[in-house]
Amino acid sequence: MDFGLTDEQKAVKDTARAFITKELVPLEQEVLRRERAHRPGLERRELRELQLKAKEFGFWGLATPEEYGGMGLPAVLQSLIWQELGRTWVPFRFGGEADNILFYANEQQKAEYLLPTIAGDRISCFAITEPGAGSDAANIKFSARLDEVTGDWILNGEKTFITNGADADFVIVVAVTDKAKGVRGGGTTAFLVDRAMGWKSEFIQTMGEGGPAALVFEDVRVPARNILGEIGQGFELGMKWIGKGRYIIPSNAIGIAERALEMGVEYANTRHTFGQPIGANQAIQWMLADSEVELEAARLLVLRAAWAIDQGLDPRHSSSMAKLYGAGMVNRVVDRVLQIHGGMGYTRELPIERWYRAVRLYRIFEGTDEMQKLIISRDLLKGYTKVGKL
Ligand SMILES: Cc1cc2nc3c(=O)[nH]c(=O)nc-3n(C[C@H](O)[C@H](O)[C@H](O)COP(=O)(O)OP(=O)(O)OC[C@H]3O[C@@H](n4cnc5c(N)ncnc54)[C@H](O)[C@@H]3O)c2cc1C
Repeated sequence: MDFGLTDEQKAVKDTARAFITKELVPLEQEVLRRERAHRPGLERRELRELQLKAKEFGFWGLATPEEYGGMGLPAVLQSLIWQELGRTWVPFRFGGEADNILFYANEQQKAEYLLPTIAGDRISCFAITEPGAGSDAANIKFSARLDEVTGDWILNGEKTFITNGADADFVIVVAVTDKAKGVRGGGTTAFLVDRAMGWKSEFIQTMGEGGPAALVFEDVRVPARNILGEIGQGFELGMKWIGKGRYIIPSNAIGIAERALEMGVEYANTRHTFGQPIGANQAIQWMLADSEVELEAARLLVLRAAWAIDQGLDPRHSSSMAKLYGAGMVNRVVDRVLQIHGGMGYTRELPIERWYRAVRLYRIFEGTDEMQKLIISRDLLKGYTKVGKL
């Protein structure tokens, strides 16, 4: 068993760190200033410029296959890069990416939706959640009805909590197309729907920076050529979209926890009370020790899940464990680091309160803690996996 990184993995990680240190870290204080003034941390134009700079470093389309100009990286390498990215709070993501399920598009749809999304000329969002169906995604009611005369589909309903929903040019939306078959039985279909076709969005304020949106469809007419994949494949595509985040989210969490813990160590060594550094107290030492152990445990779980993907193994069980533990870990670490900083940790002078708000989401979206536990225990109870099986 080899726990070390290969030369290639080390090189990619180091290059990502070099890019982040050179281009993003210098922007960190300005991002905090802007957000304190209720402005976006990065304007769309600035994000684009940074993405193009990252492209010069070699980072473009981490998950995008090479035939589309991307890097087509294995999951372990993607995880290592997302870990590095978590180390900065500048709201940056690499360019050249598209939703994984957009690759199910036909040639015409690829030209119209996939390629412009990869190029950064169009912004997509993905919508399955509804006001009445979140964890229970099989309970969606959003409907698409075939107009027998024109062959168009008429979409009605509301989606909610849609990331990028306020900015997106188009949405990949999952709708019920055959109630009798049921959501899991092939009764749903995914549609590519331009904003210009008539859906409306409303921004939702959250405790994080930025925010998702609610999307409202009232008799939105969509041509049949905008069906993504096959009729009846909607729920399956939706689950594929959600599955991807299960190792990316905890990868990002590792980077955040690393940076936060570094700040905690530094502060424990430099802040003095009662004539000695606070780090001389066992209460503080235990917070640091617990954080370091949990961080390492999360790293192993996440890399194990990414490795399973690269080996072509079914990654669902290991990804659920990584998502559950990684999301909880980063919340606990950030909370402890905030405590170590005392009153300063609570201020907006430092990024800690920002992390505290941001990482709370990690336990909720793309499968709540409870849903991950449901999956993990179901796998055991139904014998899909065995205790301790690698
Ligand atoms: C910022 C943000 C961005 C998002 N982005 C997107 C997006 O881009 N696209 C999209 O489609 N969705 C998105 N979501 C939706 C997200 O995936 C859902 O919020 C999530 O799946 C939980 O659903 P819910 O909010 O309806 O909670 P509910 O399903 O109502 O659950 C409420 C609580 O009950 C618990 N619970 C529910 N059922 C059970 C059970 N059987 N056993 C035990 N506990 C249970 C849950 O774990 C949770 O704690 C986003 C959400 C947020 C907040």
